[in-house]
Amino acid sequence: MKTRNKIKVIQSKEGETFDIELDQDLLKRNVQLAQENKKIFEKTHILAIDILGSIGSGKTSLIENILTRLKERKVGVIAGDLTTTIDAERIKKVGARIVQVNTGKECHLDANLIRHALDEFDLEAIDLVFIENVGNLICPGEFPLGAHKRVIVISVTEGPYMIVKHPYIFHDAAVVVINKIDLAEAMEVDLNRLEADALRVNPRTKVIRTNCRTGQGVEEVIETLNL
Ligand code: MG
Ligand code: ZN
Repeated sequence: MKTRNKIKVIQSKEGETFDIELDQDLLKRNVQLAQENKKIFEKTHILAIDILGSIGSGKTSLIENILTRLKERKVGVIAGDLTTTIDAERIKKVGARIVQVNTGKECHLDANLIRHALDEFDLEAIDLVFIENVGNLICPGEFPLGAHKRVIVISVTEGPYMIVKHPYIFHDAAVVVINKIDLAEAMEVDLNRLEADALRVNPRTKVIRTNCRTGQGVEEVIETLNL
């Protein structure tokens, strides 16, 4: 029997999609380099934190907000972006050392790029590194960079399905930041539902609601990350 409204779903199987990012050697090499980066962080007593999220979710705003409250820490920021230095300029203004990594056409940072970025810092002079990835929530999940903790920033302006549509990337998130909560009502986004989605995908994560325009919730992010 044919039902008109039944949706046909084609499931792509591993190896069927033409995707360079599934190249196993490349992924393995990246994991090795990520481990080397982690060793560098450990040797130089640096805490490294990944910041992931879509374009416009508030990654840079969150970093700015944290930096203005952490005047005593010596912070370095690695800002990934396809082509611009907009975020780097903003972060420079709050007084952090900053290295911009322009990935060109690549939609994610990889461990090798981070390794090169680290060469640009005086690692003895910093004790905290934020790595702001390129703005998307898909392939950065495949490329660990060597950081100790992952923060994922989503905003209510992205609608109610950000977590259920990108479940894998949330598995390793120490913190899920739900940003722009002041717009939740206008966007008709249920914050409790979003929080429940995050905890269902990753029961160990901590969900924090923020408004990076006012700074609401930022202290809680700082405490949760032990900064
Ligand atoms: Mg940004
Ligand atoms: Zn990518």
